[in-house]
Amino acid sequence: MNKYFIAVDIGATKTRVAIGDTNGLIDKKVFLTPKTGNSLIIARKIYECIINSYGSFIDKVESIGIGTIGPLDIRMGKVVNPTNLNIESVELKTPLEEWLKKPVYVLNDAMAGVLGEKMFGLGKDYSNIVYITISTGVGGGIIVDDHLLIGKLGNAHEIGHIVVDYDSDIPCGCGGYGHWESFAGGANIPRLAMILARRNPGMFKTKCYEESMKGEITPPRLFQCYRENDMFAKYVVEKIVKASGAGLANVINSYDPEIITIGGSVYLNNIDILREPMIRYAKKNAVTEMPRIETTPLGEDIVLYGALAVAIKPPAELLRIQKTTI
Ligand SMILES: [Zn+2]
Repeated sequence: MNKYFIAVDIGATKTRVAIGDTNGLIDKKVFLTPKTGNSLIIARKIYECIINSYGSFIDKVESIGIGTIGPLDIRMGKVVNPTNLNIESVELKTPLEEWLKKPVYVLNDAMAGVLGEKMFGLGKDYSNIVYITISTGVGGGIIVDDHLLIGKLGNAHEIGHIVVDYDSDIPCGCGGYGHWESFAGGANIPRLAMILARRNPGMFKTKCYEESMKGEITPPRLFQCYRENDMFAKYVVEKIVKASGAGLANVINSYDPEIITIGGSVYLNNIDILREPMIRYAKKNAVTEMPRIETTPLGEDIVLYGALAVAIKPPAELLRIQKTTI
């Protein structure tokens, strides 16, 4: 009998639910992630989606893997005080195991991403792999010597909060300053552009500058202005690139990976602008041999592939800390 697995990717905006097997994803559904509600609302929506879409396969489903926005309490398999949702705690593992009577494994989304890369992407032949996402936020998943790094609460390697400018006044969503994500996270880019515009009054009389002053710039618009040779857009993007080069160098020096794959919407939509200079800046500060650096071939589905990989082969490091009740 063919075995199936359910994969779930909980993002700040969308949640994706998919069914797959050891060869990859077979079908997926997408719904908007509830922003408010009680601690069971997201689990309930996921459960309904699984039953409505894949109910006829449920007897052949072995397990469920979930890659989610954080922060996590990985022991309990739940999200605690997510910065992007107005929900205090998001219970996942306990209710879903109770309702589905199958093991449910919960991981941070970027951590799931690196497992997806290992099983289905470019990481197959490597023991030291880093996956970096530059999206609404910046995050990473890391495998060192074939071990997934998890941390005490499942929040290891929050690389988006690496300090890349210690004397900075550029705020991060987490409350800190000068973090990689303060510059490169899509949610922070409008504020970065506004601060830089206000800091340099009259220096650039460009469309992008005027829009940034008013707080109207979006990441796609900023990169569009860059492509149109807007000087202020070039100035802002240079900050994003330098912060990302510093972050990348920190990751290389911390984990000594053989391969780094990069994804996330901000990166995937602007590879032509970001890739080459990021690597060039990283090289200046890397003390170990540079790894292979690639764009993930799994695109926007990488967390789903990761969730599928977790369901198929939950890592021993996870099983030790996240006890299943099934
Ligand atoms: Zn931060």
